[in-house]
Amino acid sequence: MAKKIRIGIDVDGTLTEYYQFFMRLTNSFPDGKFYIITGRGEEFKRDTENELKLHHIKYDGIYYVDPTDWKAKGELCKKLKLNIFFEDQNEHIENIPDDVLVFRVRNDANFKNGKWLDQ
Ligand SMILES: [Mg+2]
Repeated sequence: MAKKIRIGIDVDGTLTEYYQFFMRLTNSFPDGKFYIITGRGEEFKRDTENELKLHHIKYDGIYYVDPTDWKAKGELCKKLKLNIFFEDQNEHIENIPDDVLVFRVRNDANFKNGKWLDQ
């Protein structure tokens, strides 16, 4: 039996780069589970939830992590048994478990001057 799809989505620099894509994605898998995982502080909870509603993003949970804790998102991937994770920052991606398929999103903030090609 196929694994049920469980997808995590970062907000800033990822979901905010292409709302229409994520709206379509999150509404395309009726059996899928979608988790928003953001480094935004809980003080932005209301704004974040309003933003998701405005853009018709379907989700099953939102997690607010410390943006300087590079391991937090990887730990949530494990805890939530995610298959797929969308993220824009290398520091988070480095700590995502190997069995999670990562889609890295390019945005203006962290891909300037070919910096993303380094390493
Ligand atoms: Mg981000």
